[in-house]
Amino acid sequence: MKILLLGGSGQVGWELQRSLALLGEVTLAGIDGGTTLAADFSRPETLRGVVEALSPGVIVNAAAHTAVDRCEAEPELAQAINATATDVLARAAQASGAWLIHYSTDYVFDGSGTAPWREDDATGPLSVYGRTKLAGEAAIRASGCRHFIVRTSWVYGARGDNFAKTMLRLAAERDALSVVADQVGAPTGAELLADATAHMLRNVTGPGPGAAAASGTYHVAASGECSWHTYARHVIAYARAHGRPLRVADEAVRAIATADYPTPARRPGNSRLDTTKFRSTFDLVLPPWQRGVERALDEMFQRA
Ligand code: NDP
Repeated sequence: MKILLLGGSGQVGWELQRSLALLGEVTLAGIDGGTTLAADFSRPETLRGVVEALSPGVIVNAAAHTAVDRCEAEPELAQAINATATDVLARAAQASGAWLIHYSTDYVFDGSGTAPWREDDATGPLSVYGRTKLAGEAAIRASGCRHFIVRTSWVYGARGDNFAKTMLRLAAERDALSVVADQVGAPTGAELLADATAHMLRNVTGPGPGAAAASGTYHVAASGECSWHTYARHVIAYARAHGRPLRVADEAVRAIATADYPTPARRPGNSRLDTTKFRSTFDLVLPPWQRGVERALDEMFQRA
C-alpha cells in the first residue's frame, strides 16, 4: 500500500513515520529539504499535483498551522493551511478513491460545561485556529472521501516544542511559576496518536472481517484528565524525583485563572474528549495520560 504522509516533521508526523512503516511504503511530502515530494500548504492548489504524482491508497495529513496565538495574526495563512489545503487533499482523495486521515482538535468546541465532548456535539470554536480547523473538517465531510478525522488534545512528543518541555525549562530557570488551572483536558502523546492511526488504518485496509470501521470522526486522547497546572506539577515532581536540577519548589508552582494569563487566542475551559466511539469501534484501550508523559520525560532526560 502506498501512503502519502504530509507534515512528517511535526510531533505527530514524526511518530507516524515510525508507525505507518509497518503498513506500507511511506512517502514524505513537506516544505523541508528532507522530504521526497515538495508540498507547501500555503499554496493549497499545488497539493493536488502531489497526490496525483504518487497516487497513494492512503493520505495521512499531519500538517497544520498549530501556533494557536500566531493564527490570530495570520488568519489567511491559517485558513490556507488548515482549511483550504485540507479541502484540496479531500477532493483529491475522493477523486482517486484514497483514504484521508486527518487530525483535528478540541479547540473546535467552545469549552463550556464539564462533560467530555462527543463527536456529534455542537461545535463553537473560540479562535482562528479552531475555526480554520473546523473548516478543514467540514471540507473533508463535504468531499465525500473515505476519511478518519482524529480529534485530539494537548499533544506532546519527543520532537518539537510542547508544554512539558517548556515547564522543564522554566522550572530550571525560575523560583516561581504560575500555571492556568481552569482549563481541563488530557495531555496526549504523539506516539499514542501515531499508533492509534496505524490500528485504525489496519482496520479498514487490512485483510479479514475486521475491515469494517466507518469513515468518520473519532475522538482520540489519553484517558483521565487534568488542568495545565496539574500537568505542570506532575512534570516537575517527576523531574525532581529523577534527579533533575530544578530551581522552583513544588509549592511555588502556583495555580492561576485563564483570566490572569491573557493570550491573543481564547482557549476552551473544557477540553475533555469522550473517546468511547474510538475505543468501542476499534476495540482499543487508551492509557492514562501520566503514563505517556512519564515515558516522554524519560526520553527527554536521556537525551539531555
Ligand atoms: P506540529 O506543529 O508539530 O507540526 C506541524 C507540521 O505541519 C510540521 O511538519 C510542519 O512542517 C507542517 N507545516 C506547517 N506549515 C506548513 C506548510 N506551509 N506547508 C507544509 N507543511 C507545513 O503539529 P502537531 O504534530 O502537534 O499536530 C498534528 C496535528 O494534530 C495537527 O492537525 C494539529 O492541528 C492537531 N492537534 C495538535 C495539538 C497540539 O497540541 N499540538 C492539539 C490538538 C490537535 P515544518 O516542520 O517544516 O514547519
